[in-house]
Amino acid sequence: MTTHSRPGDPEKYCLQLMELLENFEEHLKNSELRTQVLALVPASDLLQNLGASLIRGPDTGSARARILAYMQKYVGIILSGDELMIVAGISEYARRVRELRVEYGWRILTGITLKNMEPEELYALFNTDKPSLKPDQYILLSVEQDSEAAYRWNVANDIRKEKNAGVRDKILKYFRSFVGKEISGEELRYVAGDKTEWARRTRELRTEYGWPVVTRFTGRPDLPVGIYVLEEDRQAPEHDRKIPDSVYRAVLVRDNYTCQDCGWTHEQWNRSDPRHLEAHHIKCHLDGGSNTIDNLTTLCNICHDVRHRKSSPEPFIK
Ligand SMILES: [Zn+2]
Ligand SMILES: [Zn+2]
Repeated sequence: MTTHSRPGDPEKYCLQLMELLENFEEHLKNSELRTQVLALVPASDLLQNLGASLIRGPDTGSARARILAYMQKYVGIILSGDELMIVAGISEYARRVRELRVEYGWRILTGITLKNMEPEELYALFNTDKPSLKPDQYILLSVEQDSEAAYRWNVANDIRKEKNAGVRDKILKYFRSFVGKEISGEELRYVAGDKTEWARRTRELRTEYGWPVVTRFTGRPDLPVGIYVLEEDRQAPEHDRKIPDSVYRAVLVRDNYTCQDCGWTHEQWNRSDPRHLEAHHIKCHLDGGSNTIDNLTTLCNICHDVRHRKSSPEPFIK
């Protein structure tokens, strides 16, 4: 482990480094190759020390702590692996980032995961739906630590390893293991065995199969971008399942994220009455009602049940 504590005087390292490089000019003129290489070895140490010493504060003695301090200063901004290597002061920074995510529950997404996300989510983060992203980029989504992350990552690992199960089934199983919990795209990609289709499959659970998987753009504007929640362990009634996200979102916005029967909004959510919002076809889809904004209304799941019990003998799917 190279997580030793470093003395924090950047000026000292800077001077030593400059002195060393000044002397190196001499080596360039007069020394043979091996002498030149050996003369440079201390430079990389000094550079690492200099980088590490830039992060100041009470708890910055380890590479992991310095990476975290740096990321917390730049929440929501894409940072390159090279930057993290500088502040870490070690070359194996990637392992430390993984520990921060998996063991300590910091919501860090990688460039790969970001790349697979929905265009509107990317737009919300970067003001463009096609940012140029590389695998060794990282973003800390929120300042809040997720205390249950370590446990979830263990479950994710088990589900990922399951044979004969498709990506969608694995993702659904993971969601159903953690109903109501905030799950990051990074976890879903992992459960999906790193397959790029994880984001599409996740969306299909909502738009094709009627599972209440919500995001910032589909029902829960309070969530950070890149976070997904299965609100309840049940599928929407059959006739309300296939609603495209764009239509669903427009209905929610028009209805101000409020149940049109009882006025419930997510701010009123509590443990003893954990509701969520759903879209309901005013004229039933099966009877020829269209999948359009005008034919849809926002209801909380309780009022939605009531409407269906009143309006149709159609068996209700739990
Ligand atoms: Zn309905
Ligand atoms: Zn309601």
